[in-house]
Formats: sequence, structure tokens, C-alpha cells
Amino acid sequence: MYLSCVCGNEKTKTRLSSVIRNRTLSHAYILCGEKGSGRHTLALSAVAALNCERRDEGVVPCRECTTCRRIFSMQFTDVKVLSVQGAKSTIGVDEVRVIREDMFLSASESEYKVYIFEDADKLTVQAQNALLKVLEEPINNVLIFLLCERRDKLLTTIRSRAPMITMEYLSAELIDKYLQSNSEEGRTLKRRDAEGYREVLRRADGSIGRALSMLNTDSIREYQTMHEEVCSLLLAFSPHTPYATLLSEVSSLPKNRADFIEVMEEVIRALRDAIASKRAEAFTLLFFHSKEECEEVSHHFTMTRLLQVYDLVTRAIEQASANANMTVVSALLSTNKP
Ligand SMILES: [Zn+2]
Repeated sequence: MYLSCVCGNEKTKTRLSSVIRNRTLSHAYILCGEKGSGRHTLALSAVAALNCERRDEGVVPCRECTTCRRIFSMQFTDVKVLSVQGAKSTIGVDEVRVIREDMFLSASESEYKVYIFEDADKLTVQAQNALLKVLEEPINNVLIFLLCERRDKLLTTIRSRAPMITMEYLSAELIDKYLQSNSEEGRTLKRRDAEGYREVLRRADGSIGRALSMLNTDSIREYQTMHEEVCSLLLAFSPHTPYATLLSEVSSLPKNRADFIEVMEEVIRALRDAIASKRAEAFTLLFFHSKEECEEVSHHFTMTRLLQVYDLVTRAIEQASANANMTVVSALLSTNKP
């Protein structure tokens, strides 16, 4: 079995497994997907599969042999990673030229020299053109992975020279399965705090990286606090709640723009659940932990009021994102009490 350490993405794994087995890899691949979607793991797994000491046995890469371990811990001399440095926002042509020179030196401990560009969409046009040279005239045994979030930032000429692999959105079931077999923290959390664990799966929103980053109890506690705050803010919009409660809820919202938007986006998710539950159709919960919890909130509202609040919150997000004065944005939320 090849590349089983990569979560989901079955078609991609099948496609890559066969080219790895037959040593017929393209000289470059574009791996497109958001941060945390597994692009890095896929690239390293492919490299490990090429080099694994047990590649004639069952699971490839085995992740246990010395070579696999060195590749996954980035201690393998023939694997180099290029990413945006420090406070810079782009990767410039000079950095690419240095890498290009290096590509012509022979590999020191394996068949392939591998270059992983972690932020290929941050390469300047000049840098991309410099890279294009080695894509147009591939160097023997050089393998390039271009990781990007936005494929439109890559030159058409680059895109036409390297097959594009788009990372899949992973279901909560797949993320659960992955965490249970690969993460000690994931197993512990599921055992000790099933509710917190479900919260992680929900908020991971299709990304293993995001799920992993949430696996410490502090961040889970933070999310739980936010969950409670969002529930009480939402209830304050109900026609049955005194207006003073709404004013007080609104005044305690974060003053910082980014935090404010984050809370409002949660409110939108909660509203989507509430609206869907009113429609009584089958739906997947985005915010609430259970249908019962959702109904406890939604029964305080009519559909009309839910839609009004939805519009209001959407407008607040738009204005906050457009740099409007935060006091004005907050005030907007408390002006529409029917
Ligand atoms: Zn191995």
C-alpha cells in the first residue's frame, strides 16, 4: 500500500503510487490547497516512498526506517524547502537563482534531489520566470513540488509545465480516522473530552492541519468560551429578550477588528444551523453540538427574525472587513431590534 499516511485524496494517491512504483514521475508537480490541507505531507510522503528502505514491503513509505524518519523530520540532505523568509511577503529571483544552481549539483544520498517550494504563489513574476527555465529543460533526477493556495498566482507557463494536484476537502469522518491513528493528542482528547474532540472535528473545516493545531486544551477551552458567548449573543437578538441585554451583549463584543469578525462568522454559522432547523430539512450542523442545542436557541425566533439577524450580521462583517469604524459597526448590531 502506497502513501497511506496521507489522509483522503484517494485518486491522487493512486495516481502518484503508480508513477512512484514505475519511476515515471513528472519533474514537477503543483500541489494546490490551503495551508493544513496536507500538501506538505503529500510531497514528503512521495519522496519517502521513493527512498524508503522497505519499499518492497507492505506499507510505503514505512515512516519507521532511518531514511523515512530523516525525510519526515527534514534532515535529509537531498530534500530542500524554500519558503517566504521572515518579514518578506514574496520569494525573489535571487533566492530562486541560488536554488537553481544547487539543482545542477548531483544528489548526495539518493536518486532524486527534491525541492519543495512551500509558497509557490509568493514567487515574484521574475522568480517564476527563473524557475521556468528548469521546468522547460528539466534537470535529470530533480523533482520539484510547487505548493500553492492560489493557482491563479502562478504564471500560465508554469502551470502548463507541471501537473496540478488539488488537495481534497476532508470529511469529519476522515479527519477523525486520521487523528485516531496518527495523533496521540487526538486519541487522548477523544477519550477524555468527547465534546471538545467533536468541536475540533467541526472546526477543522476539512483541514488536517487546522485540526492538529487545535489539539491542545487551551485552544479548545477558548473555542468553548466563544461558543457560549455566541449562543448568548444570538439569544439577545430574540424578540423575547429585553433590549438592554442586547445592548450589553453588543458592548462586550471584541473591539479588535479581526476578533470581532471571527465571532461574527461564528454567529453566521449558528444562524445557518438555526435557519436550517426551522426549515426542518436534513442538514449538517456547522455550529451547534446537537440538534437539541440548536432547537433550544432557534425556538426563540421566527424565521423572519432569523433572516433579519442574518442580514444584520452579514452587513456588520462587510463593514468591519471594509475598515469601517468599529464603534459604528457595533452600533449597527443593536439598531434593528423589532
Ligand atoms: Zn521507510
